[in-house]
Amino acid sequence: MKSHAKAVVVGGGVVGCSVLYHLARAGWADVILIERSELTSGSSWHAAGGFHTLNGDPNVAKLQAYTVQLYKELEELSGQSCSLHLTGGIMMADTPERMDFLRLAHAKGRYLGMDTELITPSEAKAMFPLMDETNFVGAMWDPVEGHLDPSGTTHAYAKAAQKLGAEIVLRNRVLELTQDPDGTWNVVTEKGTVKAEHVVNCGGLWAREVGRMVGVELPLLAMEHMYLLTEPMKEVEEFNRSTGREMVGVLDFKGEIYTRQERNGILLGTYEKACKPWSPVNTPWDFGHELLVPDLDRIAPSLEVGFKHFPGIEKAGIKQIINGPFTFAPDGNPLVGPVQGLTNFWCACAVMAGFSQGGGVGLALSNWMVEGDPGFDVWGMDVARFGEWATLRYTNAKVRENYSRRFSIRFPNEELPAARPAQTTPLYDTMVAQNAVMGDSWGLETPLWFAPRGTEPRDVVSYHRSNDFEHVGNEVRATRERVGVTEIANFAKYEVAGPGAEAFLNRLMTNRMPKKGRIVLTPMLNEFGKLIGDFTIANTTGRTGEERFMIWGSSAAQKYHMRWFEKHLPRDGSVRIHRFDQTLVGLSIAGPKSQALLQKLVDEDVSTSAFRFMDFREMAVAGAPCLVNRITYTGDLGYEIWMQPAYQRLVYSAVKEAGEEFGIVDFGMRALLSMRLEKNFPTWFRELRPIYGPFEGSMDRFVRLEKNDFIGREAAAREKAEGPKLRRVSLIVDAADADVMGDEPIWAKVGDRDFGTVEKPHGYGAPRFDATGEEVRSSAAASGASGVRGITDGEWRVVGWVTSGGYAHYVRKSLAQGYVPAALAENESEGLFEIEILGQRRAARINTEPLFDPAGEKMRS
Ligand SMILES: Cc1cc2nc3c(=O)[nH]c(=O)nc-3n(C[C@H](O)[C@H](O)[C@H](O)COP(=O)(O)OP(=O)(O)OC[C@H]3O[C@@H](n4cnc5c(N)ncnc54)[C@H](O)[C@@H]3O)c2cc1C
Repeated sequence: MKSHAKAVVVGGGVVGCSVLYHLARAGWADVILIERSELTSGSSWHAAGGFHTLNGDPNVAKLQAYTVQLYKELEELSGQSCSLHLTGGIMMADTPERMDFLRLAHAKGRYLGMDTELITPSEAKAMFPLMDETNFVGAMWDPVEGHLDPSGTTHAYAKAAQKLGAEIVLRNRVLELTQDPDGTWNVVTEKGTVKAEHVVNCGGLWAREVGRMVGVELPLLAMEHMYLLTEPMKEVEEFNRSTGREMVGVLDFKGEIYTRQERNGILLGTYEKACKPWSPVNTPWDFGHELLVPDLDRIAPSLEVGFKHFPGIEKAGIKQIINGPFTFAPDGNPLVGPVQGLTNFWCACAVMAGFSQGGGVGLALSNWMVEGDPGFDVWGMDVARFGEWATLRYTNAKVRENYSRRFSIRFPNEELPAARPAQTTPLYDTMVAQNAVMGDSWGLETPLWFAPRGTEPRDVVSYHRSNDFEHVGNEVRATRERVGVTEIANFAKYEVAGPGAEAFLNRLMTNRMPKKGRIVLTPMLNEFGKLIGDFTIANTTGRTGEERFMIWGSSAAQKYHMRWFEKHLPRDGSVRIHRFDQTLVGLSIAGPKSQALLQKLVDEDVSTSAFRFMDFREMAVAGAPCLVNRITYTGDLGYEIWMQPAYQRLVYSAVKEAGEEFGIVDFGMRALLSMRLEKNFPTWFRELRPIYGPFEGSMDRFVRLEKNDFIGREAAAREKAEGPKLRRVSLIVDAADADVMGDEPIWAKVGDRDFGTVEKPHGYGAPRFDATGEEVRSSAAASGASGVRGITDGEWRVVGWVTSGGYAHYVRKSLAQGYVPAALAENESEGLFEIEILGQRRAARINTEPLFDPAGEKMRS
C-alpha cells in the first residue's frame, strides 16, 4: 500500500468501486480504495440486483438513467460481465389514485426523455402471465429496467478502475481519520497510514462509524430487507420458450412487492409495513458475508396480497429466503458530497439502490472532487440537505416511515408524521390552539393553514383541490384587503460581519450590496453562472461602523449555503459569518392596513416616506428589540419583523391585539405561496435551481454585470450576450379541480418551428465523460435520453416543464410557473400552450405581468 495518495476511498461495495472508477476516469489515477474485507462485504453481495430509472426526483432519475447506460460500456472496459438482463418493467396500479400517480410519472418522463408507456392490465399480463390482472386498473411500462449480477458489477467497476491506475487494498480496515493543520488527511489503517488530500466515505453499512471518525453523525440507518427465490417454475420456462423472452420485472404498490424472473424461477421482495431497523446505533465490525434470520411473519401481509395478485407464484415452492441489511437516509435518497464544516471530506453513502444509482453517484461525486462542482443538479442527494436536527433517533423514525411507505403514494399536500414535532417556536402551542394545520419546514413546525373552529385541523390528502381550498382563500382575501400575520421563523438567517463583509458579499452575489439601512434582493451564482442561491440582504451596519449585513434565504438550503460561504470566506479572518437558525424568529404582517398596525406598536414614524419600501431598521416593536424589513413575499404593503424567541409571544399578541380594529387574520404558508404566485415571484428549489442561468430564471434586474467581478460573472455575461435559451414564465391555466404541482410538461402548438436545444437542462458546467472517456455535452446525451424535442402530437410539441404553481386565490386563477424556449416566452396568445395535469392537457396562456398589482404600487404605498 502506498503511503501517499490524492484520494482514499473507504469501502469496496458497489458505490466505493464506482467512485474509484469515476475518479480514475476523470484523471485522478493516484487513488486508493481500502476495503476492510473482500469487495462487496457490506450489503452489495446479497442485493437482488434490480435496476430502474424512475425516481420521485427527476434529477436523481437522470443519474439513474446514466447508471444503467454505463453497464455495457463498463463490461467492455473491464472485461468483466455484469450479467445484464435488460427486461423492462411494469408498475401496477390497483386504484384510480395510483393510476394518477403513474400518469404523473409518465408525464414527467416525457420531457426527461424517458420512454415509458401507460398500458392496460391485460397488456401487463401478456408480459408477466403469473398475475391476475383483474386486481389492477392499469400499469406503466418502462423499457429501461432489469437486473444484473451484483458481485460481477462491483468487480467490473473495480477492474476498470485498476486498469486506469487506481489501487485497491483488501482486508485492511480503516481505523482512524485525523487531519494535519495543512489539511492533509491521515488515513490510519490496520496496515499503516496513508496521507491523502481527500477522503471519501463509502462505508455502506459502516458509513455512520466512518463519519463518527471525523465527528459527524450521518443521518442513515440500515434496515432488514427480505426477498425470496422460488424453485424452478414450469410457467416461467414455458413463457421463455414460447416468446423467446425473459419475464419482465413487476412492481406491485398494493402488495408492497417487486418481483421478476431469476433463472427459471421467480424472485419476490417486499417493503413490508412492519419493517425492522438493523443495528440502530452501532454496526458491528465483525459482521461479514452473513445473512440475517428470515422472519416470514413480518412479510406475511405483503405475501398474502402478493399471492392474490400473482397466483402463479403462490403455487411455486420457496427455495430460499434472503434477509440482509442495507442503508437508507431519512428520505430514501443517497447522501453525497462534501460535508459542511470539514475540508476535503466527502461522502457517498446511504445509497439504497446501489445498482440503479451507483454510477450516477460516482460520476457526480468525481466531478465535484476533480472539478469543484458535481456538474448536475444533485440537490436531491446532497448530504447538505439535512440539518443538525437529523439525529440518530430522528433518522430512525424517518427511515422506518420511509421504508414502510416506499410504495405508498405521497400526495402533494401530504405532511408525514414521523419524528414530529421536533423544533417548535414559542408560538407553536398558540398556533395549534388556533387550529393551525402544521407542516414540517426543515425540521421546524410551521403553520400551513388554519382550519375553522370546531373542525379537525387536518388535510384530506389528494391530487385535487382539497379541504384547505376555501380556508386558504379566506386567509388570502383578508390579507390582501385588510391585514394578515404569519410566522416566518422557517426562513434561513445569517449575519455577515467584519471589515471585509461587503467585499465578500460583492464577490458572491450578483447584485450591488445595499447602503446602510437598505435592502436588496440578489441571486448567487456558481462559477458556471448557474443559480445556487437567492437572498434578501440588508445592510445593518450600526453605530460602531463595522460592516454588518443580515441575509435571509431558503431554510432548506442552510447547510448548502454555509458550505459555499465557508469555502469562499477570506482566510485572514476579516469576515465572520453566523447562522442564526431558531435563535432568531420572525413574523410577517402584510396587507393595506399593515402600516397603520405597525405604527400602533412603535414609537417612531413608519409612514411611507419615513420608512420606505426596501428599508431596514432596528426598532422596538411592542417594546421588544426587533429588526424590521419593509418587504413581504406576499407582494403587498408589509413588513418582516425579526426578534429573539423570548420576545416572539409578546410581539405576536401585540400584533393581534392592535390588529383587531383592522380585522386581522392569521395566515399560513399555503396562503403566502398562493400570494407569491399572483406576483410572479419565483421560489428557490422550484423555479431557481443550479441548472438555470439568471437570465433564464428571469432574474435580469438583480444581475449587475458592471458592478465588480463576482463568481459566475463571466458566464452570466455570456448568457446575456448570447441570449438565454430558456425563460421562466408564468402561465394562467384553464384548470378544473386540480392545479399543477410541478414537473408537468408544457405543450405548445408550434408545428415544425425550431427553438434550438430545449431539452430540460440537468448537467452543466464541469465537463463530464462517458465510459469511453469522451466528453459529453448534454445530460440527455449522458443518459441516452432525447430531451423534450421529438415529443409531438400533430402540431403540438412538448416545449417546456412546470416548476411550481397552484391556485392564486385573490385573482381567482390557476397559475403555473415554468420554463419554455425564450422565443416563446413573450407570446401571450390564447391557444398556444397546454399543460398536462393528471394526464389531461389543459389550455394555458403566458402572462408576462403579475396579475396582482402589476406596477408594484401597493408594496411601495
Ligand atoms: C436483500 C437486499 C436486496 C437488495 N436489492 C437491491 C436491488 O435489487 N437493487 C439495488 O440497486 N440495490 C439493492 N439492494 C441495496 C444494495 O445492496 C445497496 O444499495 C448497495 O449494496 C450499497 O452499496 P455500498 O457500496 O454503499 O455499501 P456496502 O455494500 O455496504 O459496502 C460498504 C463497504 O465498505 C467497507 N467498509 C466499511 N467501513 C470500512 C472501514 N472502516 N475500512 C475499510 N472498509 C470499510 C465494508 O466492508 C463494505 O464492503 C439490496 C440490499 C439488500 C440487503
